[in-house]
Order: sequence, then structure tokens, then C-alpha cells
Amino acid sequence: MNVFSYRDGKMFQQLSEKIIPFLASSIERLGRKFRFMEVCGTHTVSFSKTGIRELLAPYVELISGPGCPVCVTDQSDMDHMIAYAREKDVIVTTFGDMMKVPGSVSTLSRERADGADVRIVYSADDAVETAKQNCNRQVVFLGVGFETTAPGIALAIQKASRERCRNFFVYSAHKLTPPAVQTLIQDAEHQIDGFLLPGHVSVMIGRKGWMFLADKHPAVIGGFEPIDLLTSIYFLARNVISGKTDIMNLYSRFVREEGNPKALDILKKTFQIIPVQWRGFGEIDNSGLAIGSSYNSYDAARMIPIQKPKTKTAKGCRCGEIVKGKEKPFQCKLFGRACTPEKPLGPCMVSSEGACSTYYYFEKDKELVNT
Ligand code: SF4
Repeated sequence: MNVFSYRDGKMFQQLSEKIIPFLASSIERLGRKFRFMEVCGTHTVSFSKTGIRELLAPYVELISGPGCPVCVTDQSDMDHMIAYAREKDVIVTTFGDMMKVPGSVSTLSRERADGADVRIVYSADDAVETAKQNCNRQVVFLGVGFETTAPGIALAIQKASRERCRNFFVYSAHKLTPPAVQTLIQDAEHQIDGFLLPGHVSVMIGRKGWMFLADKHPAVIGGFEPIDLLTSIYFLARNVISGKTDIMNLYSRFVREEGNPKALDILKKTFQIIPVQWRGFGEIDNSGLAIGSSYNSYDAARMIPIQKPKTKTAKGCRCGEIVKGKEKPFQCKLFGRACTPEKPLGPCMVSSEGACSTYYYFEKDKELVNT
């Protein structure tokens, strides 16, 4: 099957005619709806954009998880970057989605409007080029992302090292997804029946990277097309009903058992695994990637010490609870009123993969169905 087959309307219709009655009869046996977490922000968007969240709503409560890297970046990391932007000799480089994320006192976007040198780049490589063109200034790249993004940034650090580019630095706020899921399954309050695991991260870490879930929770590695979404939910439901706690790989067109060993090796050579702060979760053991000793002269946090303001989040913002799947965007009193994509108060409304922005664009007229 090619990617277009996974969007085939007729096939989707035929599948849903089989799957929806199965879900209906299963929840009768269960006595309640299924509760599945879509860990990945891309899944959150896909379920809403395709209308599948609404189609499944009578049978399945879909809970958004900690899979949007912008959303889980801790407020103190944003404060760190904003403090860099205020330094005269520093050029801050970042992906565009970080520009409007609120720090405690400002945003990178506001700092730029006030005269700071903050530049949007499309890759970490571009940031290395910026450094080469501005030898008398320090160029700091904000490294935000999961296992999918980090290898590209590792390669940029290695390139800077090879080319003896000494004014390029990375502020590494990279995170590893499995430790966050592990934290969720240890939380007795949660009652999640199963996990739809992130397809992109799984390309890197493989099915093997999720084996800690085996024997504990049904989990499916799934793709992002309508037929992927529907079949993932079907297999999760089927496994809940039959008591199977397998890690099923339904995205085998891209995900291998071992993942991508080459990319994992690049990560291993460049970074070291450390405990880091996640928005909402606090510190999670072994969940962050700091720049390792071979490349520590490229580590902004080590090489450019900086004073930052006392960290505080926007009053009333529920992003911390939303990324843990404990609350839905509609439960935030600011949603769609004081907080909109034009004037976001928290990262979940800034990021195009954030739950708040997704619900704002695709779900807000269906509030009653989804709460
Ligand atoms: S709606 Fe805005 S303020 Fe509320 S949780 Fe979402 S991002 Fe935070």
C-alpha cells in the first residue's frame, strides 16, 4: 500500500462499518468508554483534522499526551533563551515555533521587536552558517525536540567541531519520550487503557524502545493517515478486551524493531542522558539530552553562563496538566477567550501540534462531544 491508500475514503468507510460496531459492543462489555492516550502531537492534530476524534467520541476518549516538544519545554528553558536574546553579543537562532512561546517575562518574538538579534532558522546547519558569517558574536541555537530532531542537531554540532567554528553553541532542551510515558504509567490516577505511540519517534528508537510497556499496557505504534488512526484504535480496543499487552507495530512501513541504529549512534556520540525538567511533570530521570563531554565547548549552558528571571507561568494556564493528559483544553478558563493562537498564553496554544491550538482550530464547536 502506498501513502494514498491509507487515505482511501472507500476503504475507510468499509473499515469503520466494521470497527464502529465492534467498539460499540466492546464498551457495553467494558461498561464505559475506552481511554486511549495519543502520545504524539502529530496524532493529536490528525485525529482532529480528519474528524476521527469526533467519529470515535461516543466510544473512545482520546487523551492528548506529552508528545509536543514545544509544549513540554520547561518555562525555565524559555527564560534561559530570552536571557540570551538580551545579551548584546549573542545572536539567538531558533525554529519559528519557539518565537511566541511565553517565558516568565517575555517571548523571543517580543525581544526581537525590542531590538534583540533573534533569527528563525530552518535547520541547526543554518545556525552553524550564521555563526560562520558572524565570527565576532556568539550564536546560540535553541535545541528543542525529541529523538526525531536531536540527531540533526547532533550532526550540526559535529560539523561545527570539524570546521572549527568556535562561536556556535547549542542550548540543549532535547527530551526522550519513553521516560515521560513511563512516568505516566506509574501514575495510579491516570487509568489509561492503552497508548498510541508516536510513529516518528518510533522510527528512531524502534519497537524495542517501547518494550518497557510490554506486559503492562496495550500499545500500538501507529501512522498518521486516516486508516492508520482507525486501525490503531481498533487494535488497541481489541487488545484491551482480550487482555493482551503487546506492543504492536502497525507502522512497519517505516518503523523497524531496532529503530535507526545510525541515528541512535550519532545521539550517543554527541549527547549524554541526564534528568531534566518537563513542563507539568517536573524532573524526569534519564529523559534529557545534554551535550556530552566530547563536544562540551559547544554547550551554551556551560560556556555562556547567564542570569535569568525567577520562573513563573501565566496565571490560569493549564498546559502542565494538559501535557500529562489530566485535563482537556476546554477545561482551561482562558481557552478561546484570553488565550487564542493570535495571543497565546501558553505553549499548547503556540505550537501547531499543541492540544490547545488543535482544539481551538478543529474542536471548539464540538465542545460538548469531547469534554
Ligand atoms: S488555553 Fe492557553 S492558557 Fe489555557 S492551557 Fe491552553 S495554552 Fe494555557
